Amino acid sequence: MKRIGLFGGTFNPIHMGHVQVIQEVKKGFDLDKIFIIPSALPPHKETAGLIDALDRIEMIRLAFSDDPDFVVSDVELKRSGFSYTIDTVYHFKSILPENTELFFIVGSDAFLEVDTWKSFKDLFLLIPFIVMYRAPAEQRNTVLQWKNLGNYIKFRISDRYKYSASRSGYIHDEKQPVFLFEVTPVDISSTEIRERISKGHTIRSLVPEIVEDLIKTKGLYL
Ligand code: ATP
Repeated sequence: MKRIGLFGGTFNPIHMGHVQVIQEVKKGFDLDKIFIIPSALPPHKETAGLIDALDRIEMIRLAFSDDPDFVVSDVELKRSGFSYTIDTVYHFKSILPENTELFFIVGSDAFLEVDTWKSFKDLFLLIPFIVMYRAPAEQRNTVLQWKNLGNYIKFRISDRYKYSASRSGYIHDEKQPVFLFEVTPVDISSTEIRERISKGHTIRSLVPEIVEDLIKTKGLYL
């Protein structure tokens, strides 16, 4: 039985924060493979400044070119209209063997908006979540943050979720678990990278070197 993670985002562009934490999740949850799924039209994000999906895909491919366990998926790019996670999860459930264990990986900032996602209640019936929590260096108060996530899960998703210390997450008698996973904080965002490029500042060490080369060669984000 394979354990597979789905990691969605705009990846505009992919950066060292994404690369670092997704490797930690793979190890922490003993996943066999992770699909990185760039969204075509994210329903919850400002799309000005979103570059061509093919360039975002190419950067992700380059970032993981030495590790075949990370695979870029263009499923959201092939669909027309907005990219909804629920459709993506149904897609993977339909193409993977039935005994595959699937996990949806998401940062805590994105997770805290999950109640605005299409059919979010159904999503919690379909797939366990791995919520990556990153504490800013100056206030590493994990317990407090996890309490906030816990309150959100109970108030917005279902009050029948209960914390299980042994499973490091919230479990439910009908819905899928929500695991909380602390990752090394890497204070990088795609927004910062786009801003730095437009101001002519270096992005060295914020993205993999091979990605930086492509951004320069193609003049992306200028
Ligand atoms: P932007 O700055 O354009 O909003 P972003 O850097 O947050 O972009 P996304 O493509 O939106 O990148 O992120 C995809 C996923 O990765 C989200 O679940 C997000 O929470 C997570 N993520 C983004 N940056 C980091 C980081 N530095 N550390 C851990 N997780 C991250």
